[in-house]
Amino acid sequence: MDITKLKEILKDSGVAGAGGAGFPTYAKMSEKAEYVILNCAECEPLLRVHRQIIATYAEEIMKALSLVCEVLGAKEFIVAVKGAYKNAVDAVNRVLPDHEKGRLHLLKEIYPAGDEVILVYDTIKRVVPAGGLPLDVGAAVINVETALNIYRAVFEGKSVTHKYITVTGEVKNPKTVLAPIGTSFSDLIALCGGKTTEDTAIIHGGPMTGRLTDESGTVTKTSNAIIVLPKNHHIVGTRTQKVTISVTRAMGTCCQCRTCTDLCSRNLLNHPIDPAAFMRCISSGNTDVPALVNTLYCSGCGLCEMYSCPQGLSPAALIGIYKSKLRKNGLKPDPLPAPADAKEERDGRLVPMSRLISRLDIVKYDHDAPLDETEIKTSKVKISLAQSIGAPPVVAVKKGDTVKVGDIIAAAAENALSLPIHSSVNGTVTDVTEKSVTVKIN
Ligand code: SF4
Ligand code: SF4
Repeated sequence: MDITKLKEILKDSGVAGAGGAGFPTYAKMSEKAEYVILNCAECEPLLRVHRQIIATYAEEIMKALSLVCEVLGAKEFIVAVKGAYKNAVDAVNRVLPDHEKGRLHLLKEIYPAGDEVILVYDTIKRVVPAGGLPLDVGAAVINVETALNIYRAVFEGKSVTHKYITVTGEVKNPKTVLAPIGTSFSDLIALCGGKTTEDTAIIHGGPMTGRLTDESGTVTKTSNAIIVLPKNHHIVGTRTQKVTISVTRAMGTCCQCRTCTDLCSRNLLNHPIDPAAFMRCISSGNTDVPALVNTLYCSGCGLCEMYSCPQGLSPAALIGIYKSKLRKNGLKPDPLPAPADAKEERDGRLVPMSRLISRLDIVKYDHDAPLDETEIKTSKVKISLAQSIGAPPVVAVKKGDTVKVGDIIAAAAENALSLPIHSSVNGTVTDVTEKSVTVKIN
């Protein structure tokens, strides 16, 4: 197979990065890649998707990686898994000898090991330039579920219609399920036996970077988890605090200790983001222009806020707001020259997962969420039309149409970075809006 054909299949099948922002996978397929790196860091606490998928589908995933490696002409593929994921490591070790170009790389149990930029450094010791992409240093990074979707698209002709998602926290039977895209969070919670407490809030994603949502939210191609937490949990509080309060608290208590910068995951790779300098601007009114503009180089990992700051301040949230204002005003992070290496002190400043989990006060939720691929019974799905980065797709169905699993309900926009969206169920279209298509199951 050549690269054009591979891209065509991945685009037609709607394969997007199955985590993060949902970057269309076909656009990552470049002959610039010397290394193909499988990201099985799964570094957000409580998530149990990737380690279980790879333990179950190691053979399919290795086949997909071998194919991508061959098509791109890469030197090798690296399966980057945390040593702590024993079943995953065992499964990879069983299958890898059949793949001459593959090797296993054991990752440390640190946060955020799964940030692509951190992963590239930890596996091939190359620093991705601030504002750049892993491909700039010869790496194509692929998430575990994305690799499985590549396998299913290329070898089985299947489009992306379902998503693995961990449902955990205050639910009776935490599980990792395979849900049709568009399934509501309320259905998933019911499937897991319901909630164990009243007055809850829901985080869509991990506790570090996930967003606050409610039970009407629905599964997308990038949903990795929903975490049910008591409304008064500290993690929920970080998402509900008003900006004015965050700023007032920064003015009153930021002591400029610089711990946020010392432990900043990107600053340790010599990227120019400096949360302490940003907080100095916020709390003193001083306009240190580089400190403000360099917020564009923040990855949003949340470490400065959820772990580092001894005063419990909110640098990550404030940086996030500032960064989106800069973006709205047309500023983008200019790619800078790649630093030669990470900071010397980096190794001593990595944040262990166990300490992060304690600090977040989620030890009681840190348990298995076994994989259950039983078909989910639901009466309808509401499929979002914003599931990947790029131009929005163009709706291809109308109210009353009958659709089957895998039918296109929105086509990729022409001449743009864009992906189609497929129906995840057999049913009848009951509603079409600018944001979603609802299908009632027949
Ligand atoms: S860690 Fe907290 S107190 Fe220290 S400089 Fe950063 S924001 Fe200020
Ligand atoms: S969220 Fe905080 S720790 Fe993470 S990259 Fe941004 S400034 Fe650094």
